[in-house]
Amino acid sequence: MDFDNAFRIDPGSRVRLKDGDADRSPGADRAEGERRLAEDVERIRDAQHRLFAEGTRSLLVVLQGMDAAGKDGTIRHVFGPTNPQGVRVAAFGKPTSNELAHDYLWRVHQRVPDRGHIGVFNRSHYEDVLIVRVLGLVPDEVWKRRYEHINAFERMLHDEGTAVLKFFLHVSAEEQLRRLLKRVTNPAKAWKYNAEDFTKRSRRPDYIEAYEDALSRCSTEHAPWYVIPADKKWYRNHAIARIVADRLEHMDPELPPLPEDGHAWREKFANGDD
Ligand code: AMP
Ligand code: MG
Repeated sequence: MDFDNAFRIDPGSRVRLKDGDADRSPGADRAEGERRLAEDVERIRDAQHRLFAEGTRSLLVVLQGMDAAGKDGTIRHVFGPTNPQGVRVAAFGKPTSNELAHDYLWRVHQRVPDRGHIGVFNRSHYEDVLIVRVLGLVPDEVWKRRYEHINAFERMLHDEGTAVLKFFLHVSAEEQLRRLLKRVTNPAKAWKYNAEDFTKRSRRPDYIEAYEDALSRCSTEHAPWYVIPADKKWYRNHAIARIVADRLEHMDPELPPLPEDGHAWREKFANGDD
């Protein structure tokens, strides 16, 4: 199963987000998906090590989705086992007053990964054409011109050595509600409860429309969007881990060669000097 092909949005094509697509799990059953996840997480770990040692390039993974779509769970399952020194997670919530005193990409650019690192965005600059649009936080003409800025920004990251992969975690309205309700009944999940999530859900059609526009307009050759069926958590983890692992392996980061003066050191100590 070629996840990259199955879920990548072709540049210029029009995305339609249908609830019925969210619980699909093409190409794998649960047992196989979990087994492959374990393999792919290892592949990510290994490639990340090489990326760090190489120290010249980086990978940015953008996660977007409605509330309870599974952004946090994805980070835990896909990147949890990777060396924490090599992964930087950045979460973007409501902008602070200092952030609002700057352009919307200012806070984002500061948190792109250093060379050698994997950066994971839990929400991102896309909020500035999603919630900002739906709630009318800026005039229409302001958010409408942002798609172009975003494409140029991501193009620049790509050109300067940061590969960009973007995942939309697609949960159905029904599954989203089920998960939000768990936050009011399950003590382990209650800390995530936010009454606003329910009011946001009631405007779901507006968010879907905003997402369809963002995914359609900003899936590019250099920074593709993927729509991942995310009603089944195991499938979501499996699909994302596979795409990330394949991408890292394709980048094929290389360990630097042995030091040229290493031989001399070996000789010196081989003679019993210390
Ligand atoms: P959470 O991901 O549960 O921590 O919630 C963060 C909240 O901040 C979400 O409701 C986001 O939509 C919101 N948020 C993120 N970025 C922005 C932004 N640029 N403007 C307004 N709200 C935002
Ligand atoms: Mg929340």
